[in-house]
Amino acid sequence: MKNLLIVFALFISISITAQNTYLHCGKLIDTKSGKVQTEMTVIVSGNKITSVENGYVNSNSSKDTVVDLKSKTVMPGLIDMHVHIEGETNPKSYLEDYTLNDADVAFNSIKYAEVTLMNGFTTVRDLGGSGVNVALRNAINANKVKGPRIFTAEKSLATTGGHADPTNGAKLKLMGDPGPKEGVVNGVEDAKKAVRQRYKNGADLIKITATGGVLSVAKSGQNPQFTIEEIKAICETAKDYGFHVAAHAHGDEGMQRAILGGVKTIEHGTLMSAETMEMMKKHDVYLVPTITAGKFVSEKAKIDGYYPEIIVPKALDIGPKIQDMFGRAYKAGVGIAFGTDAAVFYHGDNGKEFGYMVEAGMPAMEALQSATVTNAMILKMENELGQVKEGFFADIIAVDNDPTNDISTMQNVSFVMKNGEIYKK
Ligand SMILES: [Zn+2]
Repeated sequence: MKNLLIVFALFISISITAQNTYLHCGKLIDTKSGKVQTEMTVIVSGNKITSVENGYVNSNSSKDTVVDLKSKTVMPGLIDMHVHIEGETNPKSYLEDYTLNDADVAFNSIKYAEVTLMNGFTTVRDLGGSGVNVALRNAINANKVKGPRIFTAEKSLATTGGHADPTNGAKLKLMGDPGPKEGVVNGVEDAKKAVRQRYKNGADLIKITATGGVLSVAKSGQNPQFTIEEIKAICETAKDYGFHVAAHAHGDEGMQRAILGGVKTIEHGTLMSAETMEMMKKHDVYLVPTITAGKFVSEKAKIDGYYPEIIVPKALDIGPKIQDMFGRAYKAGVGIAFGTDAAVFYHGDNGKEFGYMVEAGMPAMEALQSATVTNAMILKMENELGQVKEGFFADIIAVDNDPTNDISTMQNVSFVMKNGEIYKK
């Protein structure tokens, strides 16, 4: 009995000292219904949202914090489905493959993670790096480093000479013969092993490079690079580990093989035909547009020496086509999952994508929904992320203007809370 009383007293004292944060929101975006609510209060306790109330509710405890966001528009933290948190574009990036050690990459990635979070992206899907991304995810989860929640593919899977073959462009002596352990797959058995290796290395999902790409040192930016049997083997093995599969693809044939092989998202989708758009809908595959990256590379390709010569014609050809394709895919009813390919352009500029999506014909609210509820669903986090709702993680941001009237405001995020902690105010 005495012990029980002590436990009870302890419980009372914990609940009295528990601190809550009250966010007074001038406007609050309900991403589920697509409605903008006015004069709302969000109550946060620990890392969770405990209540969303009408009007400005005040706390009766002096220990609680009230945050005045009455002049702001509040919404759930944004999710970017396509970033590479380990690196960032610069004219020397191709040389850096041979000069930077993993420790250098790790220190750089801390900066990129922080700037991503400070710009309102509280969750990202990292679509491929060297494996530092796994360590970074763990360090962020352990609160050692400031950054978004990371769902990582660890190392992208490619075929020999394909878009994510790590020794593309090297002289013969340095090329070696990377295999499934390094993420290079030739044949069905390799495909299975490469997925299992990613599981062993700590990945959360699988990324494949279904076609050539713009920024790899290789001639084609669009040819198919996997057989359908290889893609099927990857997707079926991925399922055993609870992974979904993301497929980089610019060319139409590679996209079709990826869709039929069982991937969940098509990244870029540049040369997607009307027929492939119908296949996307039929197989419930989402397009991750990365318009910002396309525009950035086509601009930088005009600067002499910014990219290796073999890349320039690909960047000039493919880069400008993405936004137009996106507009057609949206109108055709293809599911859209917000994603930018940050690293190809500067981390932190992810919010520009919203403007490009709206410019291409997508209503602002739907663009916001693609970056919240849709992406949470693809990550199987639809009951924890993507909404400001009771029981969800307290990932909450605010912007100065209502983005349904002024989408450019998404480039100026003025308040960031992640996991109940305020990072920017
Ligand atoms: Zn990418």
